[in-house]
Amino acid sequence: MRLTLDGDALAANWRWLRTQGGAAACGAAVKADGYGLGAREAVDRLAREGCRDFFVSSWAEAATLGAMPDGVALSVLHGVREADMPAALSGMARPVLNSAEQVARWKAAGGGSCDVMIDTGMNRLGLRPGEAGLLDGLAIETLMSHLACADEPDHPMNARQLARFEAVRQAIPAKRYSLANSAGTCLGGAYAFDLTRPGLALYGGVPVADDAAQRSGLRPVASIEAEVIQVRDVEAEESVGYGATWVAGLPCRVAILNIGYADGYLRGFSNAGSWRSGDAVYPIVGRVSMDLIAVQVGQEVREGDWLALDRDLPSLARVSGLSQYELLTVLGHRYQRRWT
Ligand SMILES: *Cc1c(COP(=O)(O)O)cnc(C)c1O
Repeated sequence: MRLTLDGDALAANWRWLRTQGGAAACGAAVKADGYGLGAREAVDRLAREGCRDFFVSSWAEAATLGAMPDGVALSVLHGVREADMPAALSGMARPVLNSAEQVARWKAAGGGSCDVMIDTGMNRLGLRPGEAGLLDGLAIETLMSHLACADEPDHPMNARQLARFEAVRQAIPAKRYSLANSAGTCLGGAYAFDLTRPGLALYGGVPVADDAAQRSGLRPVASIEAEVIQVRDVEAEESVGYGATWVAGLPCRVAILNIGYADGYLRGFSNAGSWRSGDAVYPIVGRVSMDLIAVQVGQEVREGDWLALDRDLPSLARVSGLSQYELLTVLGHRYQRRWT
């Protein structure tokens, strides 16, 4: 099966997100290997576009990514554990300090320039605003916080976190301030501050799925195709696949494709998803297997043909019950990958 990745779409999505942020710089989250699509390729492409700030989760991810292009900064969101200090002090990336322990560790090592995460309500990583005193004497490059509910624009949490972050900005000196992920970047200028940090939307995710502006501004990046490795005739009353969960009402033709849950095409698509060739749409019949699925087809489909998966992440998420984030990050390692 093939995974084709559209570098122009990635670049266009970044430019669109940058515009949403007004005067703010636009960074890029490339954690989890660029949301499963390829962090190295994403960094190189977006750096050429003008992106100067990248984010990974861990020092292992930073090391795997390798040298960054000139003039480009990398930040490690999980901060520094004791075991991370050699990597962190090597200067390959900046830590995002999250806890009193991490701040003390960084200060004791004389670590230099760093980023800091303040928790404004999510209760995930970050110092509480009341711990700001611990930061005295640190050279903070980017002071950031993270939104819990930005994909629900009307959620009261957004305004609450914005107000807390405004107060933090008055209290803690830093070169730059950053609050917004993809969905936050679409909440309007007040959320942009100096730097936005989109991830999902770069890769074709639509943070608020029914938002027309986002739908027209963001292009799919990943295209998945699978090959027909057998076509069979199924008689009326016969079943297809594990558990015999689908039974043919009438005689029909079924194509078997070489993709399955080991490729991140999870079982939520059993009897639910569909595949395409041109304008023809072929529904999945039966359960998704580890390496195979069955789709109901017409006479035109032959062994050796390639069928394409719908590229619209919001509708795939709806059909499968997975989030758009999961759909991307679970893609396995067996695809023939090609960036265009
Ligand atoms: C993952 C992450 C982002 C990007 O979030 P998206 O919702 O994918 O845009 C930004 N900031 C932090 C701290 C993150 O962990």
